Amino acid sequence: MADIFDVIIIGAGITGTSLLYMLSRFTNVKSVLLIEKYEGVATLNSSSRNNSQTLHFGDIETNYSLDKARKVKTISTLTLKYCMSLPDRFRKQVIEQCPTMVLAVGSEEVEQLKKIYESGLREVFPTLQNIDKGEIGKLEPNITAGRDPAEEISAITSGHGYMVNFGKLAETFIEDAKKNTKVEIKIIFNHKVVETKRTGDYFTVRTDGGEEFKGRFVDFSTGTYSLYFAKKAGLEKNLSILDIGGGFYESRRMLNGKVYRFQHSGIPFAAVHADPDINNPNVTRYGPTVKIPLSLEKGKGGTLLDYIRSFDFDLDTFTSLKNVFMEKNVRRIITKNMVYDIPGVGKRSFIKNEVNKIVPTLRINELKFDPNVGGIRPQILDEKTKRFAVGDDKIRGKGLTFNITPSPGASACVGNALVDAIDITKYLGLEFSRDNFDRMFETEAEKIYSSYS
Ligand SMILES: Cc1cc2nc3c(=O)[nH]c(=O)nc-3n(C[C@H](O)[C@H](O)[C@H](O)COP(=O)(O)OP(=O)(O)OC[C@H]3O[C@@H](n4cnc5c(N)ncnc54)[C@H](O)[C@@H]3O)c2cc1C
Repeated sequence: MADIFDVIIIGAGITGTSLLYMLSRFTNVKSVLLIEKYEGVATLNSSSRNNSQTLHFGDIETNYSLDKARKVKTISTLTLKYCMSLPDRFRKQVIEQCPTMVLAVGSEEVEQLKKIYESGLREVFPTLQNIDKGEIGKLEPNITAGRDPAEEISAITSGHGYMVNFGKLAETFIEDAKKNTKVEIKIIFNHKVVETKRTGDYFTVRTDGGEEFKGRFVDFSTGTYSLYFAKKAGLEKNLSILDIGGGFYESRRMLNGKVYRFQHSGIPFAAVHADPDINNPNVTRYGPTVKIPLSLEKGKGGTLLDYIRSFDFDLDTFTSLKNVFMEKNVRRIITKNMVYDIPGVGKRSFIKNEVNKIVPTLRINELKFDPNVGGIRPQILDEKTKRFAVGDDKIRGKGLTFNITPSPGASACVGNALVDAIDITKYLGLEFSRDNFDRMFETEAEKIYSSYS
Protein backbone atom coordinates (compact mmCIF):
# COMPACT_ATOMS: atom_id res chain seq x y z
CA MET A 1 0.00 0.00 0.00
CA ALA A 2 1.27 3.48 -0.87
CA ASP A 3 2.67 5.34 2.10
CA ILE A 4 1.25 8.58 0.75
CA PHE A 5 -1.63 8.29 -1.77
CA ASP A 6 -1.74 10.74 -4.65
CA VAL A 7 -5.44 11.23 -4.01
CA ILE A 8 -7.81 10.37 -1.18
CA ILE A 9 -11.51 10.49 -2.09
CA ILE A 10 -13.93 10.57 0.83
CA GLY A 11 -17.41 9.19 0.06
CA ALA A 12 -18.38 6.29 -2.23
CA GLY A 13 -21.56 7.77 -3.70
CA ILE A 14 -21.93 8.58 -7.39
CA THR A 15 -19.64 11.65 -7.06
CA GLY A 16 -16.71 9.88 -5.39
CA THR A 17 -16.87 6.76 -7.57
CA SER A 18 -17.08 8.76 -10.83
CA LEU A 19 -13.94 10.64 -9.76
CA LEU A 20 -12.20 7.33 -9.06
CA TYR A 21 -13.09 6.25 -12.61
CA MET A 22 -11.98 9.55 -14.15
CA LEU A 23 -8.60 9.50 -12.37
CA SER A 24 -7.91 5.90 -13.23
CA ARG A 25 -9.01 6.15 -16.87
CA PHE A 26 -7.74 9.57 -17.97
CA THR A 27 -4.81 10.59 -15.74
CA ASN A 28 -1.41 9.30 -14.73
CA VAL A 29 -2.24 9.43 -11.01
CA LYS A 30 -0.49 6.44 -9.40
CA SER A 31 -2.55 5.73 -6.29
CA VAL A 32 -6.08 6.51 -5.05
CA LEU A 33 -7.69 5.69 -1.72
CA LEU A 34 -11.50 5.77 -1.49
CA ILE A 35 -12.85 5.92 2.08
CA GLU A 36 -16.54 5.28 2.83
CA LYS A 37 -18.14 5.31 6.26
CA TYR A 38 -20.87 2.77 5.46
CA GLU A 39 -20.67 -0.87 4.43
CA GLY A 40 -21.03 -0.39 0.68
CA VAL A 41 -21.22 1.85 -2.37
CA ALA A 42 -24.04 4.40 -2.79
CA THR A 43 -26.10 3.75 0.33
CA LEU A 44 -27.33 7.35 0.80
CA ASN A 45 -28.61 9.80 -1.85
CA SER A 46 -27.06 7.87 -4.75
CA SER A 47 -29.03 4.72 -3.98
CA SER A 48 -31.78 4.17 -6.56
CA ARG A 49 -34.31 3.78 -3.73
CA ASN A 50 -33.56 7.26 -2.43
CA ASN A 51 -33.65 9.50 -5.50
CA SER A 52 -35.91 9.99 -8.54
CA GLN A 53 -33.59 8.13 -10.95
CA THR A 54 -33.85 10.89 -13.57
CA LEU A 55 -31.04 11.82 -15.94
CA HIS A 56 -31.69 15.57 -16.02
CA PHE A 57 -30.94 17.50 -19.21
CA GLY A 58 -32.57 20.81 -18.27
CA ASP A 59 -35.60 20.35 -20.55
CA ILE A 60 -37.96 19.40 -17.71
CA GLU A 61 -36.82 22.07 -15.26
CA THR A 62 -39.06 25.06 -15.91
CA ASN A 63 -37.34 26.82 -12.97
CA TYR A 64 -33.95 26.95 -14.75
CA SER A 65 -32.56 29.92 -16.64
CA LEU A 66 -31.66 29.14 -20.27
CA ASP A 67 -27.95 29.27 -19.36
CA LYS A 68 -28.44 26.76 -16.58
CA ALA A 69 -30.47 24.49 -18.90
CA ARG A 70 -27.68 24.60 -21.53
CA LYS A 71 -25.05 23.75 -18.93
CA VAL A 72 -27.06 20.84 -17.49
CA LYS A 73 -27.62 19.51 -21.02
CA THR A 74 -23.88 19.52 -21.78
CA ILE A 75 -22.90 17.95 -18.47
CA SER A 76 -25.58 15.25 -18.41
CA THR A 77 -24.79 14.27 -21.98
CA LEU A 78 -21.41 13.10 -20.63
CA THR A 79 -23.16 10.79 -18.17
CA LEU A 80 -25.44 9.53 -20.95
CA LYS A 81 -22.42 8.84 -23.21
CA TYR A 82 -20.73 6.89 -20.44
CA CYS A 83 -23.87 4.81 -19.75
CA MET A 84 -24.33 4.09 -23.46
CA SER A 85 -20.71 2.94 -23.75
CA LEU A 86 -21.32 0.12 -21.27
CA PRO A 87 -21.58 -3.45 -22.53
CA ASP A 88 -25.22 -4.57 -23.00
CA ARG A 89 -25.53 -6.64 -19.84
CA PHE A 90 -24.41 -3.72 -17.60
CA ARG A 91 -26.16 -1.00 -19.57
CA LYS A 92 -29.55 -2.63 -19.10
CA GLN A 93 -29.15 -2.52 -15.32
CA VAL A 94 -27.92 1.08 -15.30
CA ILE A 95 -30.05 3.02 -17.78
CA GLU A 96 -33.40 2.76 -19.54
CA GLN A 97 -35.17 5.07 -21.95
CA CYS A 98 -38.66 6.22 -20.95
CA PRO A 99 -41.19 8.84 -22.10
CA THR A 100 -40.76 12.09 -20.15
CA MET A 101 -42.84 15.26 -19.95
CA VAL A 102 -43.56 18.37 -17.88
CA LEU A 103 -47.26 18.74 -17.11
CA ALA A 104 -48.95 22.10 -16.51
CA VAL A 105 -52.29 21.94 -14.70
CA GLY A 106 -54.70 24.90 -14.71
CA SER A 107 -54.83 27.92 -16.98
CA GLU A 108 -52.12 29.86 -15.13
CA GLU A 109 -49.52 27.06 -15.39
CA VAL A 110 -50.52 26.33 -19.00
CA GLU A 111 -49.91 29.98 -19.88
CA GLN A 112 -46.56 30.10 -18.05
CA LEU A 113 -45.36 26.83 -19.60
CA LYS A 114 -46.14 28.15 -23.08
CA LYS A 115 -44.21 31.34 -22.34
CA ILE A 116 -41.14 29.42 -21.10
CA TYR A 117 -41.28 27.07 -24.08
CA GLU A 118 -41.48 29.93 -26.56
CA SER A 119 -38.91 32.16 -24.91
CA GLY A 120 -35.85 30.08 -25.78
CA LEU A 121 -36.28 26.60 -24.32
CA ARG A 122 -37.27 25.12 -27.67
CA GLU A 123 -34.10 26.55 -29.23
CA VAL A 124 -31.97 24.84 -26.56
CA PHE A 125 -33.91 21.56 -27.01
CA PRO A 126 -34.91 21.40 -30.68
CA THR A 127 -37.01 18.20 -30.29
CA LEU A 128 -39.07 19.73 -27.46
CA GLN A 129 -42.80 20.02 -28.29
CA ASN A 130 -45.60 21.86 -26.52
CA ILE A 131 -48.52 19.39 -26.61
CA ASP A 132 -52.22 19.66 -25.77
CA LYS A 133 -54.66 17.50 -23.83
CA GLY A 134 -55.41 15.21 -26.79
CA GLU A 135 -51.75 14.46 -27.41
CA ILE A 136 -51.07 14.02 -23.69
CA GLY A 137 -53.89 11.44 -23.55
CA LYS A 138 -52.32 9.43 -26.36
CA LEU A 139 -48.96 9.28 -24.57
CA GLU A 140 -50.27 8.90 -21.03
CA PRO A 141 -53.96 7.86 -20.95
CA ASN A 142 -54.08 7.96 -17.12
CA ILE A 143 -53.33 11.68 -17.09
CA THR A 144 -56.53 12.53 -18.95
CA ALA A 145 -58.78 9.68 -17.72
CA GLY A 146 -61.30 10.92 -15.15
CA ARG A 147 -60.03 14.52 -15.30
CA ASP A 148 -62.52 17.39 -14.96
CA PRO A 149 -63.11 18.42 -18.62
CA ALA A 150 -62.97 22.09 -17.55
CA GLU A 151 -59.43 21.74 -16.19
CA GLU A 152 -56.87 23.01 -18.70
CA ILE A 153 -53.68 20.99 -19.13
CA SER A 154 -50.70 21.09 -21.47
CA ALA A 155 -47.23 19.59 -21.50
CA ILE A 156 -43.79 19.90 -22.99
CA THR A 157 -41.92 16.80 -24.04
CA SER A 158 -38.77 15.89 -25.95
CA GLY A 159 -40.30 12.45 -26.56
CA HIS A 160 -38.14 10.42 -24.26
CA GLY A 161 -35.78 10.80 -21.35
CA TYR A 162 -33.83 8.31 -19.26
CA MET A 163 -34.09 6.67 -15.87
CA VAL A 164 -30.81 5.71 -14.27
CA ASN A 165 -29.92 3.44 -11.39
CA PHE A 166 -27.22 5.74 -10.03
CA GLY A 167 -26.24 3.16 -7.39
CA LYS A 168 -25.47 0.58 -10.09
CA LEU A 169 -23.69 3.26 -12.08
CA ALA A 170 -21.45 3.94 -9.06
CA GLU A 171 -20.58 0.21 -8.90
CA THR A 172 -19.81 0.26 -12.62
CA PHE A 173 -17.43 3.22 -12.18
CA ILE A 174 -15.47 1.23 -9.60
CA GLU A 175 -15.27 -1.85 -11.83
CA ASP A 176 -14.11 0.30 -14.74
CA ALA A 177 -11.51 2.10 -12.60
CA LYS A 178 -10.03 -1.22 -11.47
CA LYS A 179 -9.38 -2.21 -15.09
CA ASN A 180 -6.34 0.07 -15.11
CA THR A 181 -3.92 -2.09 -13.17
CA LYS A 182 -1.22 0.59 -13.32
CA VAL A 183 -3.13 2.59 -10.69
CA GLU A 184 -3.08 1.38 -7.10
CA ILE A 185 -6.72 1.58 -5.98
CA LYS A 186 -7.64 0.91 -2.39
CA ILE A 187 -11.23 1.09 -1.15
CA ILE A 188 -12.09 0.90 2.51
CA PHE A 189 -15.64 0.73 3.89
CA ASN A 190 -16.92 1.25 7.45
CA HIS A 191 -14.39 4.03 8.09
CA LYS A 192 -15.77 7.44 8.96
CA VAL A 193 -13.41 10.34 8.33
CA VAL A 194 -13.35 12.66 11.32
CA GLU A 195 -10.38 14.90 10.66
CA THR A 196 -8.12 16.10 7.86
CA LYS A 197 -4.90 17.95 8.66
CA ARG A 198 -2.26 19.39 6.38
CA THR A 199 1.35 18.43 7.19
CA GLY A 200 3.74 20.05 4.71
CA ASP A 201 2.78 18.95 1.20
CA TYR A 202 0.38 16.19 2.19
CA PHE A 203 -2.76 15.72 4.30
CA THR A 204 -3.34 13.25 7.11
CA VAL A 205 -6.88 11.89 7.13
CA ARG A 206 -7.98 10.34 10.43
CA THR A 207 -10.96 8.01 10.81
CA ASP A 208 -13.20 7.32 13.80
CA GLY A 209 -11.25 4.11 14.48
CA GLY A 210 -8.09 6.21 14.95
CA GLU A 211 -6.46 5.04 11.70
CA GLU A 212 -4.52 7.57 9.67
CA PHE A 213 -4.03 7.77 5.89
CA LYS A 214 -1.88 10.22 3.99
CA GLY A 215 -2.74 11.83 0.68
CA ARG A 216 -1.42 14.71 -1.44
CA PHE A 217 -4.90 15.75 -2.54
CA VAL A 218 -8.16 15.15 -0.66
CA ASP A 219 -11.54 15.25 -2.43
CA PHE A 220 -14.63 15.38 -0.26
CA SER A 221 -17.47 13.73 -2.18
CA THR A 222 -19.48 13.53 0.99
CA GLY A 223 -22.84 14.86 -0.28
CA THR A 224 -24.72 16.68 2.47
CA TYR A 225 -21.56 16.72 4.65
CA SER A 226 -19.26 18.49 2.18
CA LEU A 227 -20.06 22.04 3.29
CA TYR A 228 -19.55 20.99 6.92
CA PHE A 229 -16.04 19.74 6.04
CA ALA A 230 -15.28 22.85 3.95
CA LYS A 231 -16.23 25.09 6.86
CA LYS A 232 -14.14 22.93 9.19
CA ALA A 233 -11.19 23.56 6.87
CA GLY A 234 -11.93 27.30 7.17
CA LEU A 235 -12.76 27.57 3.49
CA GLU A 236 -16.28 28.74 2.86
CA LYS A 237 -17.92 31.74 4.38
CA ASN A 238 -20.59 32.65 1.84
CA LEU A 239 -22.63 29.49 1.56
CA SER A 240 -25.00 27.62 3.84
CA ILE A 241 -27.26 24.70 3.14
CA LEU A 242 -30.91 24.19 3.84
CA ASP A 243 -31.50 20.46 3.89
CA ILE A 244 -34.69 19.42 2.16
CA GLY A 245 -35.73 15.85 2.88
CA GLY A 246 -37.63 13.98 0.22
CA GLY A 247 -39.66 10.77 0.45
CA PHE A 248 -41.70 8.73 -2.02
CA TYR A 249 -45.14 7.16 -2.28
CA GLU A 250 -45.91 4.40 -4.76
CA SER A 251 -48.84 2.73 -6.51
CA ARG A 252 -49.25 0.05 -9.14
CA ARG A 253 -47.92 1.17 -12.54
CA MET A 254 -50.16 4.01 -13.77
CA LEU A 255 -47.92 5.81 -16.27
CA ASN A 256 -45.63 4.88 -19.14
CA GLY A 257 -42.92 7.31 -18.19
CA LYS A 258 -41.82 10.28 -16.11
CA VAL A 259 -44.29 13.09 -15.54
CA TYR A 260 -42.78 16.17 -13.91
CA ARG A 261 -44.97 19.08 -12.79
CA PHE A 262 -44.46 22.70 -13.72
CA GLN A 263 -41.75 24.14 -11.44
CA HIS A 264 -41.93 27.75 -10.32
CA SER A 265 -38.84 29.94 -10.57
CA GLY A 266 -37.07 30.65 -7.28
CA ILE A 267 -37.65 27.06 -6.11
CA PRO A 268 -34.47 25.02 -6.58
CA PHE A 269 -36.05 21.60 -5.98
CA ALA A 270 -38.52 19.68 -8.13
CA ALA A 271 -42.25 19.69 -7.45
CA VAL A 272 -43.77 16.25 -6.77
CA HIS A 273 -43.57 14.19 -9.94
CA ALA A 274 -44.42 10.64 -11.01
CA ASP A 275 -41.81 8.18 -12.21
CA PRO A 276 -41.43 4.55 -13.17
CA ASP A 277 -39.04 2.56 -10.96
CA ILE A 278 -36.01 1.12 -12.72
CA ASN A 279 -35.99 -1.67 -10.13
CA ASN A 280 -39.65 -2.64 -10.48
CA PRO A 281 -41.60 -2.27 -13.75
CA ASN A 282 -44.92 -2.75 -11.93
CA VAL A 283 -44.95 0.46 -9.91
CA THR A 284 -45.19 4.24 -10.29
CA ARG A 285 -43.43 6.39 -7.65
CA TYR A 286 -44.69 9.83 -6.55
CA GLY A 287 -42.37 12.32 -4.89
CA PRO A 288 -40.15 13.62 -3.54
CA THR A 289 -42.06 15.18 -0.68
CA VAL A 290 -40.57 18.29 0.94
CA LYS A 291 -39.45 18.21 4.58
CA ILE A 292 -37.03 20.32 6.62
CA PRO A 293 -35.37 17.63 8.72
CA LEU A 294 -32.54 19.53 10.54
CA SER A 295 -30.14 16.67 9.90
CA LEU A 296 -27.62 15.62 7.26
CA GLU A 297 -28.96 12.11 6.77
CA LYS A 298 -32.48 10.78 6.59
CA GLY A 299 -33.54 9.42 9.96
CA LYS A 300 -30.23 10.36 11.64
CA GLY A 301 -31.02 12.93 14.32
CA GLY A 302 -27.40 12.59 15.58
CA THR A 303 -26.22 14.69 12.66
CA LEU A 304 -27.93 17.87 13.95
CA LEU A 305 -24.70 19.28 15.41
CA ASP A 306 -22.81 18.81 12.13
CA TYR A 307 -25.73 20.43 10.31
CA ILE A 308 -25.61 23.46 12.60
CA ARG A 309 -21.84 23.71 12.05
CA SER A 310 -22.34 23.72 8.29
CA PHE A 311 -24.46 26.85 8.73
CA ASP A 312 -21.79 28.92 10.52
CA PHE A 313 -24.75 31.08 11.55
CA ASP A 314 -24.39 34.85 11.24
CA LEU A 315 -26.45 37.85 10.08
CA ASP A 316 -26.06 36.89 6.39
CA THR A 317 -27.30 33.37 7.09
CA PHE A 318 -30.28 34.79 8.95
CA THR A 319 -31.13 37.24 6.14
CA SER A 320 -30.76 34.52 3.50
CA LEU A 321 -33.07 32.18 5.40
CA LYS A 322 -35.54 34.99 6.00
CA ASN A 323 -35.57 35.86 2.27
CA VAL A 324 -36.08 32.25 1.28
CA PHE A 325 -38.98 31.75 3.68
CA MET A 326 -40.55 35.08 2.66
CA GLU A 327 -40.76 33.77 -0.91
CA LYS A 328 -44.45 33.04 -1.53
CA ASN A 329 -43.90 29.79 -3.43
CA VAL A 330 -41.47 28.40 -0.84
CA ARG A 331 -43.89 29.15 2.00
CA ARG A 332 -46.74 27.56 0.06
CA ILE A 333 -44.77 24.35 -0.58
CA ILE A 334 -43.55 24.05 3.00
CA THR A 335 -47.00 24.66 4.50
CA LYS A 336 -48.58 22.14 2.15
CA ASN A 337 -45.99 19.55 3.07
CA MET A 338 -46.48 20.16 6.80
CA VAL A 339 -50.11 19.23 6.31
CA TYR A 340 -49.03 16.00 4.54
CA ASP A 341 -47.40 14.92 7.84
CA ILE A 342 -50.61 15.15 9.86
CA PRO A 343 -51.90 11.63 10.58
CA GLY A 344 -55.25 10.92 8.93
CA VAL A 345 -55.57 14.05 6.78
CA GLY A 346 -51.97 14.09 5.49
CA LYS A 347 -52.16 11.29 2.95
CA ARG A 348 -55.60 12.41 1.77
CA SER A 349 -54.31 15.91 1.23
CA PHE A 350 -51.16 14.63 -0.58
CA ILE A 351 -53.15 12.53 -3.01
CA LYS A 352 -55.58 15.37 -3.74
CA ASN A 353 -52.99 18.17 -4.14
CA GLU A 354 -50.18 16.25 -5.78
CA VAL A 355 -50.96 12.77 -7.10
CA ASN A 356 -54.44 13.46 -8.52
CA LYS A 357 -53.06 16.48 -10.38
CA ILE A 358 -51.14 13.89 -12.42
CA VAL A 359 -53.32 10.76 -12.19
CA PRO A 360 -56.88 11.94 -11.37
CA THR A 361 -58.34 8.47 -10.81
CA LEU A 362 -55.85 7.16 -8.23
CA ARG A 363 -57.50 6.45 -4.87
CA ILE A 364 -56.05 6.75 -1.38
CA ASN A 365 -56.04 2.98 -0.68
CA GLU A 366 -53.92 2.45 -3.81
CA LEU A 367 -51.07 4.61 -2.52
CA LYS A 368 -48.31 3.35 -0.18
CA PHE A 369 -45.61 5.31 1.66
CA ASP A 370 -42.30 3.72 2.62
CA PRO A 371 -40.66 5.75 5.43
CA ASN A 372 -37.29 4.12 4.76
CA VAL A 373 -37.05 5.39 1.20
CA GLY A 374 -35.81 8.87 0.20
CA GLY A 375 -32.91 11.17 0.88
CA ILE A 376 -31.82 14.69 1.68
CA ARG A 377 -31.18 17.43 -0.85
CA PRO A 378 -28.55 19.88 0.45
CA GLN A 379 -30.01 23.01 -1.16
CA ILE A 380 -27.39 25.72 -1.30
CA LEU A 381 -28.07 29.15 0.17
CA ASP A 382 -25.88 31.81 -1.39
CA GLU A 383 -25.27 34.34 1.36
CA LYS A 384 -24.08 36.94 -1.18
CA THR A 385 -27.32 36.99 -3.17
CA LYS A 386 -29.29 35.89 -0.05
CA ARG A 387 -31.20 33.39 -2.19
CA PHE A 388 -31.19 29.70 -3.04
CA ALA A 389 -28.58 28.72 -5.62
CA VAL A 390 -29.84 26.25 -8.21
CA GLY A 391 -28.05 22.91 -8.56
CA ASP A 392 -24.72 21.63 -7.30
CA ASP A 393 -21.53 23.48 -6.38
CA LYS A 394 -17.86 22.93 -5.70
CA ILE A 395 -15.56 24.56 -3.16
CA ARG A 396 -11.90 24.47 -4.12
CA GLY A 397 -9.01 24.94 -1.71
CA LYS A 398 -5.27 24.24 -1.97
CA GLY A 399 -5.09 20.46 -2.36
CA LEU A 400 -8.74 20.10 -1.36
CA THR A 401 -12.11 19.96 -3.14
CA PHE A 402 -15.57 19.75 -1.59
CA ASN A 403 -18.54 18.69 -3.74
CA ILE A 404 -22.00 19.81 -2.61
CA THR A 405 -24.53 17.85 -4.62
CA PRO A 406 -28.25 18.59 -4.53
CA SER A 407 -30.23 17.46 -7.61
CA PRO A 408 -29.18 17.13 -10.40
CA GLY A 409 -25.88 16.15 -8.77
CA ALA A 410 -26.15 12.52 -9.83
CA SER A 411 -26.77 13.47 -13.48
CA ALA A 412 -23.72 15.76 -13.33
CA CYS A 413 -21.36 13.11 -11.94
CA VAL A 414 -19.10 12.69 -14.99
CA GLY A 415 -18.77 16.46 -15.51
CA ASN A 416 -18.01 16.99 -11.83
CA ALA A 417 -15.40 14.25 -11.92
CA LEU A 418 -13.81 15.76 -15.03
CA VAL A 419 -13.38 19.13 -13.32
CA ASP A 420 -11.97 17.55 -10.15
CA ALA A 421 -9.59 15.34 -12.12
CA ILE A 422 -8.20 18.32 -14.05
CA ASP A 423 -7.82 20.33 -10.81
CA ILE A 424 -6.08 17.39 -9.13
CA THR A 425 -3.61 16.74 -11.95
CA LYS A 426 -2.78 20.45 -12.19
CA TYR A 427 -2.15 20.59 -8.45
CA LEU A 428 -0.02 17.43 -8.40
CA GLY A 429 1.92 18.31 -11.56
CA LEU A 430 0.50 15.25 -13.36
CA GLU A 431 -1.37 14.87 -16.66
CA PHE A 432 -5.01 14.71 -17.69
CA SER A 433 -5.36 13.02 -21.07
CA ARG A 434 -7.63 15.47 -22.85
CA ASP A 435 -7.33 13.65 -26.17
CA ASN A 436 -8.56 10.36 -24.73
CA PHE A 437 -11.39 12.11 -22.93
CA ASP A 438 -12.44 14.11 -26.00
CA ARG A 439 -12.41 10.97 -28.13
CA MET A 440 -14.50 8.92 -25.71
CA PHE A 441 -17.03 11.67 -24.91
CA GLU A 442 -17.00 13.36 -28.34
CA THR A 443 -16.59 16.79 -26.81
CA GLU A 444 -13.89 19.11 -25.50
CA ALA A 445 -12.84 18.62 -21.88
CA GLU A 446 -11.37 22.11 -21.88
CA LYS A 447 -14.68 23.77 -22.75
CA ILE A 448 -16.50 21.92 -19.99
CA TYR A 449 -13.75 22.68 -17.49
CA SER A 450 -13.76 26.39 -18.26
CA SER A 451 -17.55 26.60 -17.91
CA TYR A 452 -17.04 25.60 -14.25
CA SER A 453 -14.22 28.04 -13.49
C1 LIG B 1 -35.24 12.78 -3.00
C2 LIG B 1 -34.13 13.01 -3.96
C3 LIG B 1 -34.32 12.90 -5.33
C4 LIG B 1 -33.27 13.11 -6.22
N1 LIG B 1 -33.47 12.90 -7.56
C5 LIG B 1 -32.44 13.05 -8.43
C6 LIG B 1 -32.60 12.73 -9.80
O1 LIG B 1 -33.64 12.28 -10.23
N2 LIG B 1 -31.55 12.96 -10.64
C7 LIG B 1 -30.36 13.46 -10.19
O2 LIG B 1 -29.46 13.65 -11.00
N3 LIG B 1 -30.18 13.74 -8.89
C8 LIG B 1 -31.16 13.51 -8.00
N4 LIG B 1 -30.99 13.76 -6.67
C9 LIG B 1 -29.67 14.22 -6.23
C10 LIG B 1 -28.70 13.04 -6.20
O3 LIG B 1 -29.27 11.97 -5.51
C11 LIG B 1 -27.42 13.51 -5.54
O4 LIG B 1 -26.96 14.67 -6.21
C12 LIG B 1 -26.32 12.47 -5.64
O5 LIG B 1 -26.76 11.20 -5.25
C13 LIG B 1 -25.17 12.91 -4.76
O6 LIG B 1 -24.18 11.94 -4.81
P1 LIG B 1 -22.95 12.06 -3.85
O7 LIG B 1 -22.06 10.92 -4.14
O8 LIG B 1 -22.37 13.44 -3.96
O9 LIG B 1 -23.57 11.99 -2.37
P2 LIG B 1 -24.11 10.70 -1.60
O10 LIG B 1 -24.75 9.74 -2.47
O11 LIG B 1 -24.87 11.22 -0.44
O12 LIG B 1 -22.76 10.04 -1.11
C14 LIG B 1 -21.93 10.65 -0.14
C15 LIG B 1 -21.13 9.54 0.50
O13 LIG B 1 -20.20 10.11 1.42
C16 LIG B 1 -20.14 9.26 2.56
N5 LIG B 1 -19.64 10.03 3.68
C17 LIG B 1 -20.20 11.14 4.24
N6 LIG B 1 -19.44 11.54 5.29
C18 LIG B 1 -18.39 10.70 5.37
C19 LIG B 1 -17.29 10.59 6.25
N7 LIG B 1 -17.12 11.45 7.28
N8 LIG B 1 -16.40 9.59 6.06
C20 LIG B 1 -16.55 8.70 5.05
N9 LIG B 1 -17.60 8.74 4.20
C21 LIG B 1 -18.50 9.73 4.36
C22 LIG B 1 -21.61 8.84 2.74
O14 LIG B 1 -21.73 7.70 3.56
C23 LIG B 1 -22.03 8.60 1.31
O15 LIG B 1 -21.81 7.27 0.88
C24 LIG B 1 -32.00 13.52 -5.74
C25 LIG B 1 -31.79 13.64 -4.37
C26 LIG B 1 -32.83 13.37 -3.47
C27 LIG B 1 -32.56 13.44 -2.01
